Amino acid sequence: MFSKILIANRGEIALRIIRTCRVMGIKTVAVYSTADEHSLHVRFADEAVCIGPPAGRESYLNIPRILAAAEITGADAIHPGYGFLAENASFSEICAESGIKFIGPSPDMIHRMGNKSLAKETVRASDVPTVPGSAGIVAGLDEGLETIRGIDFPIILKASAGGGGKGMRIVRERSEFERQFRMAKAEAESAFSNGDLYIEKYIENPRHVELQILGDQHGNVVHLGERDCSIQRRHQKLIEESPSPAVSEDLRNRMGEAAVAAAKAINYEGAGTIEFLLDKHQQFFFMEMNTRIQVEHPVTEEVTGVDLIREQIRAAAGVKLPEGGFALPSGHALECRINAEDPDKDFRPSPGMITSWHQPSGFGVRVDSHAYQGYVIPPYYDSMIAKLIVRGADRAEAIDRMAQALDEFVIEGIATTLPFHRKVMQNPAFREGVFDTHFLDTFS
Ligand code: ADP
Repeated sequence: MFSKILIANRGEIALRIIRTCRVMGIKTVAVYSTADEHSLHVRFADEAVCIGPPAGRESYLNIPRILAAAEITGADAIHPGYGFLAENASFSEICAESGIKFIGPSPDMIHRMGNKSLAKETVRASDVPTVPGSAGIVAGLDEGLETIRGIDFPIILKASAGGGGKGMRIVRERSEFERQFRMAKAEAESAFSNGDLYIEKYIENPRHVELQILGDQHGNVVHLGERDCSIQRRHQKLIEESPSPAVSEDLRNRMGEAAVAAAKAINYEGAGTIEFLLDKHQQFFFMEMNTRIQVEHPVTEEVTGVDLIREQIRAAAGVKLPEGGFALPSGHALECRINAEDPDKDFRPSPGMITSWHQPSGFGVRVDSHAYQGYVIPPYYDSMIAKLIVRGADRAEAIDRMAQALDEFVIEGIATTLPFHRKVMQNPAFREGVFDTHFLDTFS
């Protein structure tokens, strides 16, 4: 087992990883930018190293500085969290070359799944259903026009290097295709320095259902059930839950089998997520694989009782998955992402000082957060300041508990998404579990 892990991240996920390391008796090293000097991850790690100014490329994305911090402190492994360098194949490679274990998959696995069109090709070879569309990247307009011949409109143009809901364009009519293709390519080039596009059939009113998987270095892969992440704003998740109200036992088994097959296609090791779109006819299609821990992992932890960060660390250290797998999930869990954004002003970011903070607690309530009263939210990073997670015997109880916990949550000094979540918990369609990724289009 590792003796010291450096966490190449910030915020709630850095703190989350530190907590598990402490339980496992592993020492921790935090790295931080000058903007995060007063963040809790810095305070709770055994050691902390300042790695530069606020800009990501000078701190949390700066590989030489992070490796220097690992070498100075004698860390034998690096946990990348999510975002920043978590899905950067060259970072994983450089860690390996420096004799430091990257807690995540190999550079090759990241490469094969990080490139979304290549990922689709890879899993299709293992009979995993994928969204109909182009076979890989569409080189130019001519090839694009050729591809759309066989597909019904609407279609969606997706940037191969895209992520976080960015780099997608829906095209409703054939006559719009040419113009949209050029625009999408230019956008992808400027946003991701990679203009590669692929084409998919646009699935109308799908649900986003993803499977959590775990693999070890001995060829074993298991799944830990699904998460429904259909409550999204501009393709970004806001509320997640497990299990999905739309997934029957039979469907779960089939999706689970497909997820395990997708992960086995690349001999996957560690924690990963296989994302599917589920259409109105209960047909599911592979969309992409995330080769890291996800923001919404706690809902799976709450229903399975499995600490996913611990399992990630154990897999990286070469420990075998337990014989016979994990206990079956039970109950229902929900997560609301509390962002420093103003829901009344089109979710505009609202950084600044938290003048008052009271977080809910009690039976079945969990808050994962790096914030506190007096904490100043820097304007440079993601606006998520807390994840409120609740567990209930069933979905109705989980929703009631969430509504209660949201009422108890007090955050002053900045605008947050708390009022938005309170409204969703009272929404009849949400309460009935009848919604898709367009839920918020008509929500007010
Ligand atoms: P990202 O990596 O940026 O999160 P994804 O490929 O996971 O991108 O897609 C994000 C969201 O975009 C999905 O959850 C879904 O709401 C929507 N989406 C993506 N592809 C399609 C598609 N083919 N049809 C309909 N919706 C889609």
